[in-house]
Amino acid sequence: MGLGISLDVHMKLVIATHNRHKVDEIRAIFNLQGVDLLAAVDIPGAPDVEEDGDTFEKNAVKKAVALARFSGCWSLADDSGLEVSALNGAPGVQSARYAGEPVDYRANNRKLLDALRDQSDRSARFCCVMALADPSGKSQTIRGTCSGHILADARGTGGFGYDPLFVPNGYDTTFSEMDAQAKNRISHRARALEAAIRQWGGILNGRYDRFPVPP
Ligand code: IMP
Repeated sequence: MGLGISLDVHMKLVIATHNRHKVDEIRAIFNLQGVDLLAAVDIPGAPDVEEDGDTFEKNAVKKAVALARFSGCWSLADDSGLEVSALNGAPGVQSARYAGEPVDYRANNRKLLDALRDQSDRSARFCCVMALADPSGKSQTIRGTCSGHILADARGTGGFGYDPLFVPNGYDTTFSEMDAQAKNRISHRARALEAAIRQWGGILNGRYDRFPVPP
């Protein structure tokens, strides 16, 4: 079984995000020689996909597949959030809008602290799922996680979202108190990107033009 080695390595990869920072971050991390990296915003009429799945995987796949089919290009999408053990995995896929619309990080953190009042189990983890889809709509996902616990009070000013409440295992500072580089070495997103490179490096580098056959 061949791995689909591509001799004409000029492939296009579309990142299913309207956030140019994510595209820049991915460009900086992957070695994308021979790959033209595009953001969904650069493709006129690109579908704006509703994230209504009940798992990170479903949302990431939905975004990647919709964009791959629309554009005829390989597409990469991610979905992330916080899962709290005592809340059976909530806020999970609702992390951004836990306290309602519009997205309000402070209100989300207040709601989380209320939900965990008097809870002794404070364990939680951040998850980041990435989905890669080929132009026919075939897809694969990978997941990166970072486990830790939720404090009783916010600490620190950096980062975003639930960062002021989250202390990763093995540390005594919150994500907000760490500098961005330290967070980016251990975060769920960093781990997902590492897994993406391990799993799909050949495709993302433009050397292969189809998914590797699972062992
Ligand atoms: P999205 O994947 O960018 O849509 O993120 C979903 C939500 O999960 C964000 O709005 C945050 O509330 C939360 N979240 C995801 N990653 C992080 C993180 O690294 N720190 C804090 N909050 C995060």
